[in-house]
Amino acid sequence: MGYLVFARKWRPKTFDDVVGQEHIVNTLCRAIEKDRVAHAYIFTGTRGVGKTTTARILARALNCEKGPTPTPCGECEACKNILSGSGFDVQEIDGASNNRVEDIRKLREDVGYTSMSGKHRIFVIDEVHMLTTSAFNALLKTLEEPPPNVIFIFATTEPHKIPATIHSRCQRYDFRRVSAEQLAAHLAKICTAENISFDKSALMLVARKAEGSVRDSLSLLDQVCSFCGDSLSEKEVRSVLGLVSTEIYRQLMKDIKEKNAGSALEAVQKVLFDGYDLHEFVMGLQEHIRNLLFARIPGALKARGLDLEDSETAVFAGESKEFAESDLLRMAEIAKKCEYELKWSAYPRFLAEVMVLKLLYLDSSASIEQLLKLAADGNDGTSLQSAAAGLATSSDEDVKKKLN
Ligand SMILES: [Zn+2]
Repeated sequence: MGYLVFARKWRPKTFDDVVGQEHIVNTLCRAIEKDRVAHAYIFTGTRGVGKTTTARILARALNCEKGPTPTPCGECEACKNILSGSGFDVQEIDGASNNRVEDIRKLREDVGYTSMSGKHRIFVIDEVHMLTTSAFNALLKTLEEPPPNVIFIFATTEPHKIPATIHSRCQRYDFRRVSAEQLAAHLAKICTAENISFDKSALMLVARKAEGSVRDSLSLLDQVCSFCGDSLSEKEVRSVLGLVSTEIYRQLMKDIKEKNAGSALEAVQKVLFDGYDLHEFVMGLQEHIRNLLFARIPGALKARGLDLEDSETAVFAGESKEFAESDLLRMAEIAKKCEYELKWSAYPRFLAEVMVLKLLYLDSSASIEQLLKLAADGNDGTSLQSAAAGLATSSDEDVKKKLN
């Protein structure tokens, strides 16, 4: 057998294998057990979160020779047919290329035939929002009087494009984006089974880049494995995914602290020169600032699923002491604003450079406690003045809260 990409090889075959959609899986299992399966479902959610996969598992659960059961055997003729996509009883239709009223009329004829195995006939229409209005109207007729044992599953990324008349005849399930932590755990399981060694932080990078899509995370894993072989280090994964290295951010934060503008601007130059995307650079900077912020809160890095090596956690903790929490918060805001503006700007480099300079010339804030302590110590005017200059940058709200 030829090489099978991870996304296909590791496609879930049972409800237990579906990642991050417990709310849907549990409800479907209960419906199967209680024989309360609806005749039409809408599965919505972004790409690669398990909509058609769950539809196929539901089909096997209903048509398995040992079923209906939430745990289809995977061995019987019906299970195998559905798995290979060759069965008569389960049909997958691409709504994008079969979106005309003629296609739906043909489908309605098909729906009229009874199942060969005497069980359910299941029609999965993918991208159902692509149907034309007249096609939807034709479909509505079937939904109004569904033949016995026929089940429709409509998968879509854009549920708002489905007419209300269709909506009201279906049960709707919203598939969530899967959290980076859950994705990383899933990838770790696969890597272990495939004998691939890995840094946890490397998998976390892959998981973040996938933005909640299981399929994307597996495609990215394929991509990094074809470069890195069977050992995934954070450094190599960063370079494959086009993510800027942590060293650049560390140096930049150091320059900001030391108000070294020339060197800080070089970071932008280097990022461009090395062929990175500036948007990616600014996103990474936000992440770095957030990590510094969380490093100041005991256990927070771990709670966020950032299972860093102890040495790395120590580096973040050490670096974060250089900045007040309120400063890090303001820096995160500046980076976030820049990220947003980059999307629309014709001068991305200029924006990135301005952002770096804003971060650099940001006045550090002084806490009210520091000021009161200075006053109480009876310090001379000069130190109070310099502290007051810092105070000017903290917000009025802050001051009021502390004085109350
Ligand atoms: Zn079976």
